[in-house]
Amino acid sequence: MKLEQDFHIHTHCSCDAACAQLAEIIKGCRQNGYRHFGISDHLHTRFNLPDIEIARKEFLACGPVPGFHFGIEVTCATQWECEKIAKRDFASCFTCEVNGRKFQTMTPIDGIMYGGPANGPLMVDLTREDIDRLGIEYVIGGVHKPNYTPQEPQPMIDDYFNQSCFLVNHPLVDILAHPWNGLPFWSGYNIVTDDPEDVHPDIFFQIPGEYWDELAHLLTANGKIAELNCCNLFYEFEKSARFLLEKMADWKSKGVKFSFASDLHGAVYPDAAKASALLTEYGFTEEDFALPPRLRDSR
Ligand SMILES: [Zn+2]
Ligand SMILES: [Zn+2]
Repeated sequence: MKLEQDFHIHTHCSCDAACAQLAEIIKGCRQNGYRHFGISDHLHTRFNLPDIEIARKEFLACGPVPGFHFGIEVTCATQWECEKIAKRDFASCFTCEVNGRKFQTMTPIDGIMYGGPANGPLMVDLTREDIDRLGIEYVIGGVHKPNYTPQEPQPMIDDYFNQSCFLVNHPLVDILAHPWNGLPFWSGYNIVTDDPEDVHPDIFFQIPGEYWDELAHLLTANGKIAELNCCNLFYEFEKSARFLLEKMADWKSKGVKFSFASDLHGAVYPDAAKASALLTEYGFTEEDFALPPRLRDSR
């Protein structure tokens, strides 16, 4: 199988440590022979909108490049934090107590991580008007943090499932990013303890079968795409990476369609041959991949 696409690539405009220049991305994707590829920087909340505006300007400055697209990666946020961000009420995000320890951030760049009500309403802080104005061709939605639930294995599996369902059902989201990624980290308090024991790389085995089945059902019923993301494919705990791949292959047999995601954060776009070989091993073919709806005419 040959990979023909990558819709999940971060540029140096992204609010995190991503550092690739657009020219490098275009060069790397051409070397891989992709028919379609796109950049998708983070929007956790509207606080990150200026970064997306800059990415859009840089995208347009590249001129028309065949197969090169402009996307975005949104986070499943909470209404509570989005309202605070809208009012520029950031005080609560600077210092708070997390599991009895002090947690500090300088800005709400990743959203407001702590202090909100557990199980409150979820939200994607992007509108159809933003999509039109910024020429966003597809939206990737990802779970990137707990939404004020206890950071323990069982509640966090439930939280991830709940957020994933919300994203797949959301009318603006086309692609579900890296299913379950980050669960080993967020199911413990490593963020404040720095203790490796607080990361649970084998937590994926505890996800109930019904959760996998329900997500497969929602993906197909809503015509949404699931990601084969390198952060899952090459997760350092190999037994978990293999398990996730088996589950993705099972989704495939249930009719789920996929997109490939390098989720590049580095400066240089890599050779995708290793990912392609791995996916071939698990029975994936070109037929298992789909384009986001707004790109289907350009096939
Ligand atoms: Zn992500
Ligand atoms: Zn990403």
